[in-house]
Amino acid sequence: MLRIGCHLSSSKGFMAMGKEAVKIKANTFQFFTRNPRGGKAKPLDLEDMQNYITFSQEHGIAHILAHAPYTLNACAKDPGLRDFAKNTMADDLTRLSHLPESMYNFHPGSHVQQGPEAGIAYIVQLLNEILTPDQKTVVLLETMSGKGTEVGRSFEELKSILDQVELEEKMGVCLDTCHVYDAGYNIVDQLDDVLEEFDRVIGLERLKAIHMNDSKNPFASHKDRHEKIGEGSIGLEAMVRIINHPALRKLPFFLETPNELEGYAAEIALLKSRYQEEVGE
Ligand code: FE
Ligand code: FE
Ligand code: ZN
Repeated sequence: MLRIGCHLSSSKGFMAMGKEAVKIKANTFQFFTRNPRGGKAKPLDLEDMQNYITFSQEHGIAHILAHAPYTLNACAKDPGLRDFAKNTMADDLTRLSHLPESMYNFHPGSHVQQGPEAGIAYIVQLLNEILTPDQKTVVLLETMSGKGTEVGRSFEELKSILDQVELEEKMGVCLDTCHVYDAGYNIVDQLDDVLEEFDRVIGLERLKAIHMNDSKNPFASHKDRHEKIGEGSIGLEAMVRIINHPALRKLPFFLETPNELEGYAAEIALLKSRYQEEVGE
């Protein structure tokens, strides 16, 4: 069974997202923990969460992915900004402790003029301060396109972070197809090679989720502009190979394509129709 969903608005709460997911025939989804530009989260609604958990079990929804606000910068030069990222992420993790099986994805950040090594050191420091031995939520580093001074443009940079996190077992990686293609990993013509490289550098056991996005820009452009499935430089057939690849086919896939719900429903149906079920699945 293909585990697939899309990014949904969290403004109306978890039950609303669960119902939307069912409506578009998704069996997972991603959401922002709060306004994507940062700021205060809504008060925790434990009743809504509890209702959602029952609903998700009845409808086979699982492995949902929380996304941190993308404006957080864990490796900002300004200690105030780093503190803000740390406090926000720690608060998000506390909230997510009420949701079994949830994962938490964040952009490693931008080192600006400090260089990637300094940036990585700050990210590691932050993670070592917020991760706790008893947390259930796995925290994912997202692969980035290398726009500007983004950290996470290469598997080596992500590995360097993972290696220095004390509670490494709480960490994983979310591979964004648009980002890695823009970063210069050729998942269109050399998918096997890219996955072998991921395995060699990071280890495929650390790969926990896939963001499914086509790219508006050509290979290695370092741009990060998402396109609808099949309408960009990656193309539908490469996407079909990705969802069916033996190393990836059991992972949850999340669409972050420029779509309304209707468009997401169509992409989910399309990818489901191209997924090769195995006997006994
Ligand atoms: Fe992201
Ligand atoms: Fe993404
Ligand atoms: Zn992106």
